[in-house]
Amino acid sequence: MARIFSSRKRMTDLKIQPAGILRYESSPGSLRALVEKCGGLKGLGAGDRTFIKPNLVALDESFPIPLYGVVTTTRLVHDMVLLLKEHGVESITIGEGSVYGRNFGVPTAEVFEALGYGELAKRYGVRLLDLHREPFSREDFGDYTLEISEPALSADVLINMPVLKTHNQAVVSLGLKNLKGCLSMKSRKACHAADGGLDGYLARFVEKLTPDLTVIDGIYGLEKGPFYTGTAVRMNALIASTDPLSADLVGAAAAGFDPGAIPHLRLCAGRRARSTDPEPVLRPGDDIDSVRKPLKWDNTWRADDTGPRAWDRLGVQGIRLPKYDATLCTGCSGLYSPILVLIMAAYRGEPFNEIEILTGKAARPSGEANKTLLVGNCMIKANRHAPGIRETVLVKGCPPGLDDVTDALRSCGIEADESGLMAFRRNLAERYKGKPGFDETFYKV
Ligand code: SF4
Repeated sequence: MARIFSSRKRMTDLKIQPAGILRYESSPGSLRALVEKCGGLKGLGAGDRTFIKPNLVALDESFPIPLYGVVTTTRLVHDMVLLLKEHGVESITIGEGSVYGRNFGVPTAEVFEALGYGELAKRYGVRLLDLHREPFSREDFGDYTLEISEPALSADVLINMPVLKTHNQAVVSLGLKNLKGCLSMKSRKACHAADGGLDGYLARFVEKLTPDLTVIDGIYGLEKGPFYTGTAVRMNALIASTDPLSADLVGAAAAGFDPGAIPHLRLCAGRRARSTDPEPVLRPGDDIDSVRKPLKWDNTWRADDTGPRAWDRLGVQGIRLPKYDATLCTGCSGLYSPILVLIMAAYRGEPFNEIEILTGKAARPSGEANKTLLVGNCMIKANRHAPGIRETVLVKGCPPGLDDVTDALRSCGIEADESGLMAFRRNLAERYKGKPGFDETFYKV
């Protein structure tokens, strides 16, 4: 299985391989059985340099907000390390570039520490890499280039371990999407370009960074993901394949989606003239229904796009917050939930004064608002001089700070108060306590 960077196989060379399913029951037995039935570590040599890419998207600074379904369970990553050790593998690297910005997240090293990875390093000599601090290689996709982490590209064996979750922009975040965490921040932002082509990028990372094994961790799935504002569901689903697309097709079906209706999966399949039907790529005897649990995708918005339907329950009026689109990159998306919560907490039953809040790169003013907040440098650039705006309120930054957003809301007469946000976070921190099936030891070693 040993390869060197220059000869590493590419997705375009891959034959279709089946995906296996197993219900999680114990550690490390369940993962071992699944990997064996998929031939997932076949040919692995003790001298191979292995690289595990979990999904450790971000940790809020107000952790311990539970991360069920948001990040890969530490337990399953620990199991994978044990399997590699059983194969005599010496060189094990776990790499991630967690989101860490002005409003959101902590450095990757702190994410590793909070989730018990320090113990994996201590016990098994695993090397932990913050990919933001490692070199990137500019990879040519023909019509564009992206900076991809060199340690991930140059590993002999790449093991992708996403979590089974929904994603507000990508519909699902499985193996193909998880590879985005191996991009530089600059390239991640480029994937959210104004043309809205995020799905096209998600479909193609795998052409340069082709996992040898994908294991989808569905011990917990996440509805209305990708962050902890979503709702976790205990599923006990494990899905694995040496073929990244097969794994994702089955993973999407396990979450109750038609994989052919998920744009980045459809595009990835289309580029290699493959079907998106998960049934033909299932291992004989495996059954998606044995783990299937339909997950709700996303919050729905009012028909006139003035805000989430949840605002109807409170009767929120006089404000327009169009639904985020694919051009909103992670930095600004970390502000989105706080904005929603601040507005709800500030609503006192009287309509706001026709305020409009625009985010991302593609939204356009309605021409009907008294004040238009342009959130983030991208939105300012796109609309600063747009016709139809009566008064602009600029919220500068890439991304802006939460304080700037709060000040801007106040300047529009919305009494935004961070205590409402803190109460919301406290609720999130408590909500799984005592619920059967929710066990914090899955995120410890
Ligand atoms: S302003 Fe916001 S959307 Fe634009 S690049 Fe910066 S973080 Fe992304």
